[in-house]
Amino acid sequence: MDYKDYYKILGVNKKASEKDIKTAYRKLARKYHPDVNPGDKSAETKFKEINEAHAVLTDPEKRRKYDTLGPDWEKRVAGYRPGGSTSTQTGTATTADFSDFFETLFGGQRTASGQTGGFDFDIGSIFGRGKTPRRAEVAQTGTDVEQPVDVSLQEAFRGVERTFTIQTMQQCPTCHGTGLQNDQLCPTCHGQGSIPKTKRLEVKIPAGVREGSRVRVPGEGNPGQSGGKAGNLYLVVHIPNDPNFRREADDLHSEVSVPVTTLVLGGEADVRTLDGRITMRVPPSSQNGRVMRLAGQGMPNLKTGSRGNLYVKLNASLPTTLDDKQRELFQQLAQAGV
Ligand SMILES: [Zn+2]
Repeated sequence: MDYKDYYKILGVNKKASEKDIKTAYRKLARKYHPDVNPGDKSAETKFKEINEAHAVLTDPEKRRKYDTLGPDWEKRVAGYRPGGSTSTQTGTATTADFSDFFETLFGGQRTASGQTGGFDFDIGSIFGRGKTPRRAEVAQTGTDVEQPVDVSLQEAFRGVERTFTIQTMQQCPTCHGTGLQNDQLCPTCHGQGSIPKTKRLEVKIPAGVREGSRVRVPGEGNPGQSGGKAGNLYLVVHIPNDPNFRREADDLHSEVSVPVTTLVLGGEADVRTLDGRITMRVPPSSQNGRVMRLAGQGMPNLKTGSRGNLYVKLNASLPTTLDDKQRELFQQLAQAGV
């Protein structure tokens, strides 16, 4: 962990007034702002350092601690994670160091065991992060958000446009995410850098989506921080079972009832497809359970758009009642050895 000389970072001397520090900060912040240097990692790091230096040196209390503790300030703080439990830190040495640090700052007593247990506080309370704006942070891309969406098979077949109302955060328009306005806590977001927002989104779900498909809606995730880009929204497709079709990738499977005479003699069957109904030819001597392939009557492929097949299983429908004439005919069939 390198010791960061905040004075050097801002290019001011140790006696610099708060005004000098702010002037230096503004000049450097403009130069290294991530918006001005998109994708430039070293500028990003520099911008972070500048913000960090500015946050510490413009706060009289923090500046005093920094001046007093010098290089160890950074090292000791680094061993402590904000929000973590004080008694489960990584190494004893770190814990002890931190304990020293705690004593130095507050004149607190170290416990006999040498642990900091019992001091239940957040590092934010020392450095005021909980209550002051996030000014010591580098531009960060917002996190992605997932939202489930139910799509019927028919909709997955044709593609569908959906309107969503999403609750999101947006970058504060007053302070542009810095949490500060004229070096004061931003009045609009109270230093948070973002404000809640309800948003209507119209999203086109493309034809061919499958169960679990993720439809990406760029820039509609959580907002970025300190000028970072927003994350993406992913709609995670769920397709409830369809009463008529079973889907396997881009193929569809269905069943149709056909009179036994049609199976034996051949003929036609009326078949439901996602496009409507079509007439399918049934070859003579078809066995019960025969599967017919209707090429190109399946689902469109999400990428290529070319359609899979529809496989139709023929189920023989047998008469449940027979009149005298029909009974006689079946008897004749039986006698003929059919
Ligand atoms: Zn604001």
